[in-house]
Amino acid sequence: MYELLDFRTKKKVTPENLVFTGKDGPWEVKMDMELVRSRINKEYFKHAPPQGSKYLPLMPIKRYDSFVTLGEGATPLIRSTRLGEELGIDLYFKLESQNPTGAFKDRGSAVEISIARELGAKAVVVASTGNMAASISCYAAAAHMPCFVFVPEDTPTSKMAQVISYGGRIVQVKGSYGDAARIAYEVAQELGFYLCGDYAFRVEGHKTAAFEVAEQLFYDMPEAVVVPMGCGTNIASYYRGFQDYQELDFIDRMPRLIGVQAEGAPTIVDAFKNGAKEGVTFNRVSSIAGAIAINHALDATKALDAIYSSNGSACAVSDTEMLEAQYSLAREEGFFVEAACAATVASLRRYAKDLGLLGKRVVCVLTGAGLKDPSPILKIAIKPPTIFPDVEDFLSLYKNSFFEGKSVSFVDRGHVIFDAVPSAEEMLEKLDTYFSLPFSEQQIAAISAVIERFLRKGKPITFSDLQDIVQEVLEKPTERREGAFSVLDFTVHTYKDKKSSAEVTVRVGKKDVVSSGEGVGPVDAVIAALKKACGDSFQFSLSNYKVNIRSEGTNAVVYVELKLAREEEVSVGSGASPDIIQASIEAFENAYNALT
Ligand SMILES: *Cc1c(COP(=O)(O)O)cnc(C)c1O
Repeated sequence: MYELLDFRTKKKVTPENLVFTGKDGPWEVKMDMELVRSRINKEYFKHAPPQGSKYLPLMPIKRYDSFVTLGEGATPLIRSTRLGEELGIDLYFKLESQNPTGAFKDRGSAVEISIARELGAKAVVVASTGNMAASISCYAAAAHMPCFVFVPEDTPTSKMAQVISYGGRIVQVKGSYGDAARIAYEVAQELGFYLCGDYAFRVEGHKTAAFEVAEQLFYDMPEAVVVPMGCGTNIASYYRGFQDYQELDFIDRMPRLIGVQAEGAPTIVDAFKNGAKEGVTFNRVSSIAGAIAINHALDATKALDAIYSSNGSACAVSDTEMLEAQYSLAREEGFFVEAACAATVASLRRYAKDLGLLGKRVVCVLTGAGLKDPSPILKIAIKPPTIFPDVEDFLSLYKNSFFEGKSVSFVDRGHVIFDAVPSAEEMLEKLDTYFSLPFSEQQIAAISAVIERFLRKGKPITFSDLQDIVQEVLEKPTERREGAFSVLDFTVHTYKDKKSSAEVTVRVGKKDVVSSGEGVGPVDAVIAALKKACGDSFQFSLSNYKVNIRSEGTNAVVYVELKLAREEEVSVGSGASPDIIQASIEAFENAYNALT
């Protein structure tokens, strides 16, 4: 039915355990195409709509009744309504984000888990940066098989939440993806588990996406297919899929395969630039696009072969380019996808001309859904404004052209905007560049005041700090009430093994009050003191204390949000400061003053 070969030497290999890869190089599955031909009715096959089971005769699955499927594949291919025109390309998108776990990996997981079941595996093990783990644990759950997952320590929580929900047992590895992959390999060898991941059988599942592209374009093949590359398995799978269809005489031409990586993780791109056949391994890689931020690409050799053989190319794009493309895809086309997939559109923006793709038909593979890892877009977004429940508040924002301003800004978060107190003009100019919002004079004064205060504390203002400051000002919906509550000063004592204590001086109405409180930590103690200062008559509860830090370093601006509730009424307040206690106090003041 099929042969297992060493990809480099094309020699037959024999697995010892349920591990279908060499120690230092990939294996491949070679289907018996004669058998495939005898199994399908070509005329019918060519025009039958795509669905998971249609492609079973082209997969290395022996017993069709052991196939584990959750409706993966058969994803839409949609023609661009705007970006294509902008780029001068006849552009299509393959929406792999519509697979059961939100990424194309489900196509391969269905095959791998089916084979694991056929072979009687007692458990499966996988290494992943997140999406692979979510997909494998999902299909393992469907097959009622235990699943062990190794991820690098900084895997996004949304992807881990998927794994945990499917019952996958996660272990975080203090190391890179490459380290996690090595441990998964060793565990599979040692315990006799089936090793899932970017190994021989996976390509045989992923390749169905190439079949679909051919069918969805009625066999009128595109000039190029653009694929984001992590391990390189997916691009190799498109190559294999188109190859299968060429062998079956369904298509007469191989599209050029263009692989895209993040500039911070160019394992395959660097090799391509040097005309090398093997990928480059890095100790450290960095990109906001977690799904392709991989230091050791397991299928680099296969990916490079696919690229060279299809007269394709490999190129890299920056994080900012990906974020811009991610936003365009959502805003201009209606596809909220993971940053990694946006690399495809970003690469066309930069390289379409050099690659000779202008005026040509091109398919971008959008590999995963935006909700998989919303953090990159949230980091560059300005949170929406808050209003009192009064339509006038909205209308005033609307009439002041608030909604014509930016809601995201593509600037490196660490970029220093002010390191000395700016002049009024400088201030206006920067605010216009980064936000182009119609700030009121009052708001500008408030923003300037905070900036000055931070600078006085010795804190240079980076872009992400400015974002927090602006946001904080936008969230103060209207002017403070008469006789408001304000904190004049505070002191805090903290100890190693003792409660913290705080003393606050507060102006309530026209009266100054000094009160103190204790707590498990400095913030807790200050809040206790503030509550006491408000007096017993004022009954409310505090919930939802949230801390958000966008930038890095111990001098980062901390954004605090908290909620006060009294009977039916709730009020959310926020504060931003490089000092977490001060940010908490401001959040408390704002929430309190907004309670009527
Ligand atoms: C896994 C993944 C990739 C990378 O695919 P490879 O087969 O590793 O090259 C790209 N995008 C998303 C969303 C992924 O999950």
